[in-house]
Amino acid sequence: MNQAHPAVIDNLPEFLLHAITLERESVDRYEELAESMAVHNNPGMAELFHKLAHFGRLHASEIEQHAAALVLPDIAPWNFKWSTPEGPESGTRDGVHYLMDQREALEHALYNETQGRDFYASVASSSPDEEVRELAAQFSREESEHVAILESWLTRLDPQNTRRLEDLDPPNSPD
Ligand code: ZN
Repeated sequence: MNQAHPAVIDNLPEFLLHAITLERESVDRYEELAESMAVHNNPGMAELFHKLAHFGRLHASEIEQHAAALVLPDIAPWNFKWSTPEGPESGTRDGVHYLMDQREALEHALYNETQGRDFYASVASSSPDEEVRELAAQFSREESEHVAILESWLTRLDPQNTRRLEDLDPPNSPD
């Protein structure tokens, strides 16, 4: 829930359950963002979000392999040990809407990835279990790569190239 410091995750099954949940929610959210960008005829960004959803799926199945030999705990959603109502990488439902422009979409995704990275980093530094710390550190590095991808997209985003301006003055229109 909204505690300032997430409770300590002290065993591997509990950590893997959090990680799988985080990645699955992230995949769902990226598919929503991709859909929203496709609706707005923004195939480049739809492709970016599909790619990030794909990374999330790969990551989820990698985590499932770690979990294959284990029995994961049954934890109610509200008892998960992170500080946001949903998974830290999933954002809030209000965040995704059909009027979202490219910058908003990227910032939303960046926020989610940053939350995911910080969640893993905090587990990596707080868990008493060495294997959990190592995996969490590895996952945190992977999320850092996603953060970097989104930051570079945001940096390259042409301030002229917003939906609104595109609509007013399409770049390929005759003068
Ligand atoms: Zn990610």
